[in-house]
Amino acid sequence: DLRVRFAPSPTGMFHVGNARSVLFNWVLARQSGGTMVLRIEDTDAARNRPEWVQGILDAMEWLGIGPSEYEGPLFQSDYAPQHREAIDRLLAAGRAYFCDCTRDQVIARTGSEHKGYDGFCRDRAQSAGEGRALRFRTPDDGSTVIVDLVRGKPTFDNKLIEDFVIARGDGSPVFLLANVVDDMVMGITHVIRAEEHLPNAPKQQLLWEALGAEPPVWVHAPILVNEKRQKLSKRRDRVALEDFRAEGYLAGAMRNYLMLLGWAPSGDREILPWDDIVAEFRLEDVNPSPAFFDVKKLRAFNGDYIRALSVEAFVEACQPWLSAEAAPWRPEAYDADVFAAVAELAQTRIAVLSEIVPMVDFLFLDEPVTDEAAWAKAMKAEASVLLAAVVEAYETCEWQTEVLKSTLETIGAERGLKLGKAQAPVRVAVTGRTVGLPLFESIEILGRERTLARLRAALD
Ligand code: GLU
Repeated sequence: DLRVRFAPSPTGMFHVGNARSVLFNWVLARQSGGTMVLRIEDTDAARNRPEWVQGILDAMEWLGIGPSEYEGPLFQSDYAPQHREAIDRLLAAGRAYFCDCTRDQVIARTGSEHKGYDGFCRDRAQSAGEGRALRFRTPDDGSTVIVDLVRGKPTFDNKLIEDFVIARGDGSPVFLLANVVDDMVMGITHVIRAEEHLPNAPKQQLLWEALGAEPPVWVHAPILVNEKRQKLSKRRDRVALEDFRAEGYLAGAMRNYLMLLGWAPSGDREILPWDDIVAEFRLEDVNPSPAFFDVKKLRAFNGDYIRALSVEAFVEACQPWLSAEAAPWRPEAYDADVFAAVAELAQTRIAVLSEIVPMVDFLFLDEPVTDEAAWAKAMKAEASVLLAAVVEAYETCEWQTEVLKSTLETIGAERGLKLGKAQAPVRVAVTGRTVGLPLFESIEILGRERTLARLRAALD
């Protein structure tokens, strides 16, 4: 039976690369009736934080991968006895040796920072001791071939694989060893992770073999790059899943988009139902070349997903942004009926949910936000004359979208202005912005009194 695992380290924000990895694992488990294990690799005590563990669980849940979808969470730190046992076995079999060389000594001998370890301590038969790391003795000749479903059979010349460290001076295992032992103990059949770990794969496969086990099938999904083809970085790029969620990306759009980072369904489909993705995804079809994490495209996806919601679901989805603490208006000024009246108009005009706030704030704020740039753009010399005429007409005309529109149209025409030009200062006066919901519907909903007050204020 297929057993895969997602093995994040709780050392920082859950990022889009993590999300892509867990989705690939989960989809594979789902379509084969296999199991996904969640293993928290918490052995870097200095960098681990409990809130990052919670962040992993929350992010997965948001993506649709709740606790019933995986085995665990299991914690790497609980497997210390197994790590120890594996280290002892490698020592007993003569596959590991103690080494007290410092990095500087190695560089002095090899003349390079990049050559790796030169095997100096291989045959010095040192025993365990303070400051002595344990190194794995790699084969001197031959090659290590890994089976990678995305990359074919990458082949590594054993001569170029250095005798790498498996345990530190204090006896604690390093990542390479703990990760392999856990995968063995947990019966993992497929290791699906990001390309960053490809250089570890031959070393890890040698460990599997030395420990007498059948190595897993490997899958190294392509690295994610930004628009400049640079590898995504926490410092430079927007990568935290939480940030996207807070901005109003929908989980459905996010996971659909993330699945396309390396994979494409047949035909020219890009947005497709999750069940179809699960049914059609094939690791063998994943493209090994770097995948562009295109936020613009993700945004467009999100807009499509927003438009596909029922109006009720859209209203519901907007609530976190409209709710008291988050919103810029007084809590009691929010009116659910007023929002319901514009929801359908707003739904087609935003790409991320947080954009709902600037779109409807004019309805709930006592005064619209004054955007100086908008004033400068709309309030040309003729605007105040025009606004004065609009105020006069709007005092008495029927308060209905079509009438409000034709009234302004006439006033504009008398001054040689097309409707678009004539409505610009009205829009800025009433909503504070140059773009937004359809103007006359907005004005009808806002009501005569508040509309007139804002037009008059603009004249002052
Ligand atoms: N803890 C490692 C990471 O987050 C796991 C690598 C792996 O999947 O083997 O990068």
